[in-house]
Order: sequence, then C-alpha cells, then structure tokens
Amino acid sequence: MTPNVTLIPGDGVGPELVDIAVDCLEATGVKFHWDRIELGGGDAPSKLGAMLDSIRRNKVALKGPVTTPVGGGFRSINVALRKTLDLYACVRPCRHYPGVPAPHPGVDLVVVRENTEDLYVGVEFEKGRPETKELIRFIKEKSGADLGDAGISIKAATTEASERIVRYAFEYAKAHGRKKVTAVTKSNIMKHTDGLFQRAAAEVAKDYNIGFEHRLVDAVCMQLVTDPRQFDVIVTTNLYGDILSDLTAGLVGGLGVAPGYNVGGEYAVFEATHGSSPDFKGKDMLNPAALILSGAHMLGHLGEKDAALAVESAVAAVLAEGRHVTFDIKRENPASSTRMGAAVAEKIRGLMRWR
Ligand code: NAD
Repeated sequence: MTPNVTLIPGDGVGPELVDIAVDCLEATGVKFHWDRIELGGGDAPSKLGAMLDSIRRNKVALKGPVTTPVGGGFRSINVALRKTLDLYACVRPCRHYPGVPAPHPGVDLVVVRENTEDLYVGVEFEKGRPETKELIRFIKEKSGADLGDAGISIKAATTEASERIVRYAFEYAKAHGRKKVTAVTKSNIMKHTDGLFQRAAAEVAKDYNIGFEHRLVDAVCMQLVTDPRQFDVIVTTNLYGDILSDLTAGLVGGLGVAPGYNVGGEYAVFEATHGSSPDFKGKDMLNPAALILSGAHMLGHLGEKDAALAVESAVAAVLAEGRHVTFDIKRENPASSTRMGAAVAEKIRGLMRWR
C-alpha cells in the first residue's frame, strides 16, 4: 500500500529539514505519495485552506515548522490547523539517546498537551478598544475587580475537552506500558479552569489501573530540572504543555532531538517541537533528528512498525556513534544537516535489509 501523506515543508529551516526527513523515511522502502503544499514566502494564511483540504483527504501529514509573527501580525497557522482539524492531543516524547550531551541522561517521559482550549482559544481584547472597556465594566460589575485599562486574553476550559485529553494520556500510557500519569495545572489559583481540569483528570483516572497524581506546574518545573526521572506521562493544559515540552526537550539534549505530533479522532499531523529558526535558514546546520523521529512516529501511526523501529534505531545509532552529528550534539567539527541525514538514511537501509 502507498500511503497518501500531506507534506508541508513550512518555512525558515522547515523545507531543508523536511527534505532530509523524507529521504530517511523513503530509505525504509515504504513508498509514499506525497501531496506537497508549499507555503511560499510570507503567505502562510493564504495556504491554510489548501493545507486543510489536503489533510482532510489524506488524514495524515508530515509538517515542517511555520513562522508566527511575534506580538502582532497574522494568527498562528499551527493553532488554526490544530483547532480546525480538532487535533486535540499534542504528544511530545522526550527520550534521551546515548551520545547526546544532556543534563539528565536516561530521561524517558512524554508530555501530552491539550491543544484546543486554555489561553490559546484566541479570544483577545485589545487594550483601549470600546468592546474591551465594556468587558472591563462588566467584569467590575459582576466581580468587583477593577482591571483598569487592561488588554484581556481569555482562558477557557471545558470538562469534555479536559476529560478527553486525560483519557488520551491514559490510553497512551496503557498502549506504551507506562506506569504513571501526572496531571499538571495551577489549580490553586485558577479554580474554574485549571481546577476543572484537575477534577476531570481525577475522574478519568478512576477508569484505569495506572498510577495517577496531580501536581502544580511551578513545582513540576523545579522537579523536572532537579529529578526528571520521577515523571512518566505528563498531561496538561495548552499553555503549560507548550512551555513544559520545550523544557523537557532541553532535559534530553535540546530541540534538535525532540519529535512530536498532533492527533485527533480523524487526523494526525507529525512535526518536530522546534520552530522555523529563521536565523539558520539555508545554513544546513540544524539537527534533522527531531523531524526524522517525528516521521518515525508517523510510520508507526500508518502501521509500518518495522520501518518505524528502523528509523528510530538508525537515529539512535548515528547519535551514539557521534561522527555525523550536528553542532548541537558536537561542537568540534560538526556535520551539516544533510550529512547527518545521509548517515541516518544509510543506517536505515542497512537495518531494513536485515528484516
Ligand atoms: P525555534 O525552535 O525555531 O528555535 C529556537 C532555537 O532552538 C534556535 O535558535 C536553535 O538554537 C535551537 N533549535 C531549534 N531547532 C533546532 C534543531 N533542529 N537543531 C538544533 N537546534 C535547534 O524557536 P523560535 O526561534 O522561538 O521560533 C521561530 C519561529 O518558529 C516563530 O515564528 C515561532 O512562532 C515558530 N514556531 C513554529 C512551530 C511550528 O510550526 N510547530 C513551533 C514552534 C515555533
């Protein structure tokens, strides 16, 4: 079978890393039909419709990063894809591979992030606008709080979405032989959003014979830095998940080795945790492993278990050997992204010949 897969190279370093990942995935011998949706320079929102149509047809996508302007400009294409396709779970496995310099060798945890709610609902009121002032008057009338001349971003949580993501985390734990799920919130302060998430998590946990605990996000940050091996599966809300999964990537060697995917009931989009790193565009320097490993997860999702295992084993072998690795892994005489990708592809071909 030739799977149809939407391929979104993205921008910045995306296209160069996506091409390397495609070479590695094809080195497994699995034949893909790639439906390639190019972004072109600076017109990401105009391509959103084409991306959505293609993913709706193919159900699966491999995606490079897409730049989101900071502090203004168009809204995130990534958030739009996740919301429109109801890709409600963002899964970010953080595994330490031998050979990768990291503060905590041996870490192997997964962050499961709720992708559709929280402060990322995209409902914002600009400071000074009439509707913002009206909202501030309403809030004062109902709660007594005087927000002054504030800008406002809305944080929202429903029981349905909270239960759904926690159930996903437990099902993931069950399928992957994981022993514990930790729900992470700031429920002591935000009782009607994070508190709701915590209560939903405790309710869902009753259906599983897997360890469960709740912890506060500030404490978890400290514990992740000092003793991360105590964590197994972390399930959390959108904003904390976004931040914690970059932190956990740092624990195992950085964004160059941190894969991920966004998944819902119908569709799945596989992409690295890292962004478009515009400063590195065209330099052939960044580590392709994160995107290659995201591709390995895609192979698993497509039922190509042997190929998925070969890709992960090849990345692990190249990292462990340390000869053809990029500058984030080896400062002296590092390999280019292309060279590292070629080394991984060569190993994959070798591994697949033995199967
Ligand atoms: P970034 O992840 O692009 O880069 C931050 C730094 O991390 C880089 O300067 C580099 O030092 C390191 N890094 C990142 N990827 C690496 C790799 N593969 N190998 C080695 N080192 C790597 O984050 P940023 O600079 O904050 O964001 C740039 C843009 O990307 C922003 O517009 C942001 O919105 C966007 N972004 C997109 C996605 C996505 O499309 N899913 C995700 C995150 C950020």
